Amino acid sequence: ALSACGRAEQTTTSTQSSGGSAAAKGFDQGALIGVSLPQKTSENWVLAENLFKTDLAGAGYKADVQFANNGVSEQQNQIQSMVTKGAKLIVVGAIDGSQLGTQLKAAKDSGATVVAYDRLLTNTPNVDYYVAFDNFKVGVLQGNALLEGLKAKKPSGPYNIELFAGSPDDANAKVFFDGAMSVLEPKIKDGTLKVVSGQTSFNQAVTQGWKAENAQKRMDTLIAGSYGSAQLDGVLSPNDTLARAILTSAKQAGKPTPVVTGQDSEVESVKSIMAGEQYSTINKDTRKLVAAAIDMTKQIQKGEKVTVNDEKSYNNGVKVVPANLLEPVIVTKANAKEAYANDPTLSALVK
Ligand code: BGC
Repeated sequence: ALSACGRAEQTTTSTQSSGGSAAAKGFDQGALIGVSLPQKTSENWVLAENLFKTDLAGAGYKADVQFANNGVSEQQNQIQSMVTKGAKLIVVGAIDGSQLGTQLKAAKDSGATVVAYDRLLTNTPNVDYYVAFDNFKVGVLQGNALLEGLKAKKPSGPYNIELFAGSPDDANAKVFFDGAMSVLEPKIKDGTLKVVSGQTSFNQAVTQGWKAENAQKRMDTLIAGSYGSAQLDGVLSPNDTLARAILTSAKQAGKPTPVVTGQDSEVESVKSIMAGEQYSTINKDTRKLVAAAIDMTKQIQKGEKVTVNDEKSYNNGVKVVPANLLEPVIVTKANAKEAYANDPTLSALVK
């Protein structure tokens, strides 16, 4: 079923003409390309910044790549100034994808094409394409990994777990959580999994701003309130930064290491996985995502058909945004060597 900011069945790869008339005509290669990134809430954003700068320049484009470390209004101002400078394509990794409507309208009115990068832009008709890893699949992989890790520790349940989600202003957070819950909910219903705190809804599980300190605080509170005598067997964590905060909390409370999921393949988490602490992560190779965004840029610039492989999953509340989705890969200690074989930084950590 199609739902706002949700995701349905994947379609096969196809191409389609690029949205508005300005985009269909393409634009001059010398024109400015804007890339507006969010706060540095995980390593992938820092990698993306460097790759966008280097690879857009390498492809012969003039690019303005910016972070919005100070929040939503800074990102709004940056996008507006990219429009003013005449950017013909604006790639946006939003802090809050629902708060950029005015600036995205200005972008479209000026004839620019708007691409949502990694995070969907919501409640606006003024977004042409979405390029991201399959976020629902990320959640499914996390849910499966949690179950698998729990079974590896203790052959049968019930298992005591807690659930964490990402920041509610990031459209991805709900999709990750829904993907994970598609796997975990039936197991909660049949009693295999027990969420001892009773906090099973997305709103209860969220971590404002994707901040480690917020996840650590919530884990501290949950342990104090619900795990005096009960054993904490596992935790669904939506990414690596939060996974490490959750592990720190359990350690400081003197609890045995729970099975904790993650995402992003951050250096510290890959080390933790190899040391037998964090159970899993997801490999969403930022090099591949930036390359896909730059391929899309080239197609739009040249006025060619734009490659998309999903034209029904990402309803942003106003329209279904055609998406090019990449495949995420689950990583545990067991397959880390294979998973990171082509990554110069990570392969050195998993020998
Ligand atoms: C990204 C994740 C990342 C999170 C926090 C999400 O939108 O998809 O990879 O962990 O933001 O930065």
